[in-house]
Amino acid sequence: MLKQFLVGLFGWLFFSAAQAEPIRIVAAENFYGQIAAQLGGPYVAVTSILQNPQQDPHLFSSNPEIAKAIAKADFVIYNGLGYDSWMVNLIEAANSKTKHIIIVGDLTDKTLGANPHIWYDPHTMLVYANYLTAQLSQLDSVHQAFYHQQMESFKADYEKLMAKIQTLKTQFHGVPVIATEPVFNEMAAALGLMMQGQNFQLSIMNGTEPSANATKAFEDALRNHQVKVLIYNNQVSNPVTDRMRKIAEKAHIPVVGISEIQPPEQNYWTWMNQSLDALASALTREISSDLF
Ligand SMILES: [Zn+2]
Repeated sequence: MLKQFLVGLFGWLFFSAAQAEPIRIVAAENFYGQIAAQLGGPYVAVTSILQNPQQDPHLFSSNPEIAKAIAKADFVIYNGLGYDSWMVNLIEAANSKTKHIIIVGDLTDKTLGANPHIWYDPHTMLVYANYLTAQLSQLDSVHQAFYHQQMESFKADYEKLMAKIQTLKTQFHGVPVIATEPVFNEMAAALGLMMQGQNFQLSIMNGTEPSANATKAFEDALRNHQVKVLIYNNQVSNPVTDRMRKIAEKAHIPVVGISEIQPPEQNYWTWMNQSLDALASALTREISSDLF
């Protein structure tokens, strides 16, 4: 009798463990996917679509494997604000009515036409993480305590990053910088940097030729040392941005490389920290060399 009971009990335990399938999440961009994995731990299975920091993410095209993953997902997460509008078609094609869709841009106060690179504003990530934690807790209330504990650890990482941004801001606020594409601009604003060349950046982002005026102003800013650093988007380069990089190098303006998509060996926090460190050391060198 006892033996039968035990066999039954183990059978039941085995059965329920096998039943507990992770929540399937598909994220259009790997930084949203990695944070979902951090928040969901063993209870989520995450697939990220854009994960190659060598490719221009503005020129993405889908494949059948991605379409299949979206069709099977419990949560689909994408940036919005026109950055990844191909997701709209993919979700529509997947035709699943029960799907939870999170458009991160819609959680912020940004609207279409705003700079879509909102993940370079850490506050966006906090808003997103809070929202996702609430969603996971609702769908899988058994593990609510776990999700809240993960969110606490996320907040600790966030506070550390914000403290670093504050420190750098006191050092560098008001310093003029320039960039080939607006990928880093939200972070530059958080640091109080004065971003130049914004018309030029918009053309590069949209894949159009910058105007003669915008191009000349950009070149002059570099040649005449009106900026302390050139922030270069490694992922969105073309002959025009390449030329600007060469002009900067010739004028001895430091070039700081930034990527749009998180390098696969990093997480959001190490990625942001590394970008900030590279920028801070370039600015420090440049500003101290001005004193002599
Ligand atoms: Zn971009």
